[in-house]
Amino acid sequence: MDILFLGTGAGIPAKLRNVTSIALKLLEERGAIWLFDAGEATQHQILHTSIKPRRIEKIFITHLHGDHIYGLPGLLASRSFQGGETEVIIYGPKGLKDYISISLTVSQTYLKYPLKIVEIDEGVIFEDEQFIVEARLLEHGIPSYGYRIIEKDKPGTLLAERLVEAGVQPGPIFRKIKEGETITLDDGTIIVPTDFLGPDIKGRIVTILGDTRYCDNAILLAKDADLLIHEATFSKGEEKLAFDYFHSTTHQAAEVAKLAGSKQLCLTHISSRYDRQSWGELVAEAQEVFANTDIAEDFKEISIVFK
Ligand SMILES: [Zn+2]
Ligand SMILES: [Zn+2]
Repeated sequence: MDILFLGTGAGIPAKLRNVTSIALKLLEERGAIWLFDAGEATQHQILHTSIKPRRIEKIFITHLHGDHIYGLPGLLASRSFQGGETEVIIYGPKGLKDYISISLTVSQTYLKYPLKIVEIDEGVIFEDEQFIVEARLLEHGIPSYGYRIIEKDKPGTLLAERLVEAGVQPGPIFRKIKEGETITLDDGTIIVPTDFLGPDIKGRIVTILGDTRYCDNAILLAKDADLLIHEATFSKGEEKLAFDYFHSTTHQAAEVAKLAGSKQLCLTHISSRYDRQSWGELVAEAQEVFANTDIAEDFKEISIVFK
């Protein structure tokens, strides 16, 4: 499970930072990529990475500002040209369906794969045996969602030695026990899987927020997250400006991470008014409040490991 930043700037593309897109790489977990937002030229950014567009399984759109969605139609069209045949599901605020269907219809783009668009409300928007995704509204002037991606706990490691001691010979039976099946041996011994598994492996939590002012829902979404990705359009001291434009400062993002008990914070959606030399200062400001803070850069990768 890795995060790969494809675009980390605010508002308009800049040389050092393209507009927003974040890939959650779930290659080991499900052979898939989940994309969060697709600002203009997201597909160009992808060309510089190992991401295969056909692997993109889901796209979560935080809000409908151009710097988060102008790259979507082109990306969807190219995925078709590049041999993508499996379904893509896109989640996002109301209006998303119109935007995508008008763009594809007017440009006479026909996709070779099924496309499903889900206009969401707050709550659990997706769940399967591996993951739950929750959405909550933030404060950005227009509906802007934050997403909390929760990996479900996995059964602990198989205590193989203990099984052998109990008279179970290694083989396919080990896998059955690992998967939670109760087994009766030839001599009538009943093997209850929980007796032969280590403690559950705690699933990981990643919180990816859309543009927002400092708000309570951000804290709820980031509760105990292994990684919180929070916008920091402005530096500390610009709270008035941030409030007026429905954005956050470095300090406010760090405050959210601290109050939520997140383990790690990464700042993104950085205004181009801050040049490369100032990025360290932005991090230092946030670290005054929350020590384990980093700043996103285009193509930066963060691995989310089991803790
Ligand atoms: Zn934005
Ligand atoms: Zn915005």
